[in-house]
Amino acid sequence: MKVLVINSGSSSIKFQLLDMQDESVLASGLVERIGEAEGLIKCELRPDTDAEEVIKIQEPVPNHEHGMRKAVDLLTDADKGVIKDRSEIGAVGHRVVHGGEAFHQPTLITDEVIAAIENTIPLAPLHNPANLDGIKVARELFPAAPQVAVFDTAFHQSIPPHAYHYALPIELYEKHRVRRYGFHGTSHKFVAGECAKVMGKKLEDVNIITVHLGNGCSMTAVEKGKSIDTTLGLTPLEGLVMGTRSGDVDPAIYAFLARNCDMDIDAIDNMLNKKSGLKGLCGMNDMRDIHSAIEKGDKMAKLALDVQTYRNRKYIGAYMAALGHVDAIVFTAGIGENDNIVREKTVEGLEAFGIIMDKKVNDQRVKKPTLLSTKESAVQIWGIPTNEELAIARQAVEVVA
Ligand code: ADP
Repeated sequence: MKVLVINSGSSSIKFQLLDMQDESVLASGLVERIGEAEGLIKCELRPDTDAEEVIKIQEPVPNHEHGMRKAVDLLTDADKGVIKDRSEIGAVGHRVVHGGEAFHQPTLITDEVIAAIENTIPLAPLHNPANLDGIKVARELFPAAPQVAVFDTAFHQSIPPHAYHYALPIELYEKHRVRRYGFHGTSHKFVAGECAKVMGKKLEDVNIITVHLGNGCSMTAVEKGKSIDTTLGLTPLEGLVMGTRSGDVDPAIYAFLARNCDMDIDAIDNMLNKKSGLKGLCGMNDMRDIHSAIEKGDKMAKLALDVQTYRNRKYIGAYMAALGHVDAIVFTAGIGENDNIVREKTVEGLEAFGIIMDKKVNDQRVKKPTLLSTKESAVQIWGIPTNEELAIARQAVEVVA
């Protein structure tokens, strides 16, 4: 079966077409700057093969429907296309950021499901409307293909009440569903599954801490295949230090800034999400730039690295306590896969807890599942590339089956 995976954002659509017979990627692309004066449609056809072809079209993309139609035209192009007709697509998998408490697993999209996703818009006002746009367009373009929603929050619905409740007046949960939801669930679930496989174990028999470090960062305690705690919360702001997001701060910071710094709620929210994290500390949010700056003696860049890796280490300790016993720690995503220094500093000083990195093996970019710990390490440390598109496509196939 051929599965089209769609990740529809407010001004962009990422898509990938996979042949699930051998899980190969037939095409992978991006529609950018939707609604702006100049848009971009980029598509790699047959990547990873000798017949690879990259197509870039610069033209205005007024809306998601236009963008999606253009992308499908490339997939079905008579000369260069990878399928003859849209009807070859057997299922469409959609990334949906927030499923609230309604969705614990990937779900076949119906009118009722769309209404339920609409109900969670207050929890993800930027993301869910854009995800819904993608779903609506795909339903029109592929009327015969089953459409499956795969939620970033679903994997974390197994988190028990003592870990998902905030110690706030309980009415806030009862009336407004204020609680921890967690995100990046598709990635955490995928790398936990891959980790068990490469360890030669059943997922149900191991406890794993998954560390997703990209622009957004989060860590999850996975007990026997189930998420029992995760660092992102009601929104994707809590926990680890991210590219531009602060992660944990004293919640009273809102009141302090409002009273003392002449900032209103929107300004504070914007600052915590877009001007904080690594960028807030040193003016850069890309780890590659931060390392170059450190090499040139930039003290604030060094501080940003230290703050991020210390926070990572602190949460590893917390999740070791939450899990009781840990078999493996997995690093994934842009920083987790590529940055040996961040990985090394994250587990530095944890030898007494049975976490011993093999610094020589760690000194590389991880392109496939790679064991990064020494033989003596009681806890295995792995670098495992995440693949959210493949994870979504697999789940779409399962739902359709
Ligand atoms: P997103 O959360 O947007 O999916 P990614 O997982 O792609 O992000 O991660 C992007 C981040 O990964 C970049 O901002 C950068 O900090 C980091 N990164 C990418 N490549 C490297 C590299 N070679 N070395 C260090 N960091 C890298």
